Amino acid sequence: MFNLILFGPPGSGKGTQSEKIIERFGLKHISTGDLLRLEKAAKTELGLEAAKYMDNGKLVPDEVMIGIISSVMDANPSIPGFLFDGYPRTVAQAEAMDHLLELKGHSITRMIALTVREDELVRRLLMRGQVSERPDDRNTEVISARINEYHKKTKAVADYYAKADKVVYLDGEGSIEEIFERITKEIDSCTEKQFNGGSTKT
Ligand code: AMP
Repeated sequence: MFNLILFGPPGSGKGTQSEKIIERFGLKHISTGDLLRLEKAAKTELGLEAAKYMDNGKLVPDEVMIGIISSVMDANPSIPGFLFDGYPRTVAQAEAMDHLLELKGHSITRMIALTVREDELVRRLLMRGQVSERPDDRNTEVISARINEYHKKTKAVADYYAKADKVVYLDGEGSIEEIFERITKEIDSCTEKQFNGGSTKT
């Protein structure tokens, strides 16, 4: 399996690039933000509970997220690999996912971390707020809270995977195509290593 985490702060382009990656590489896209928004729109118990956090730019509690990721992985037993977008966002989530993959004899292949300057993140989120249905992109306080949560809880997830030598940082600024080309090169070099019996464990 080829299991990729696309990582970065809110507004770093994970959603946009994920769509292009799944089209090119045939991975199963798991966006926890999208899954939560679906639950919220359907007014399920989970969605209503999650909305309390999402609407304030806070992270939904780990136990809820770990339950979601576990059921999505169970529902997709035979696929070439997952593309995780917006998960894991805490070290506890990363440990839980690693454990789930390990039970199935797999692991995370690579984390691609997109780097974008903070003023550019805010600019992109506000721009998206003008065209999307997302209330959390329209309010500067909620945007700051989301970036704050990233610094407080999420950034450490990259250090966690760096210890296993699985992280590459790529410049997340430039045109969508330029960024996609950087990502594609990285995925190609990982898959080559996999097929040539290199060090990248599946
Ligand atoms: P996103 O679409 O990835 O920006 O996520 C939107 C919101 O959903 C976040 O601000 C969080 O409130 C919540 N969320 C999405 N993924 C996670 C996660 N892995 N852990 C906790 N909260 C999450």
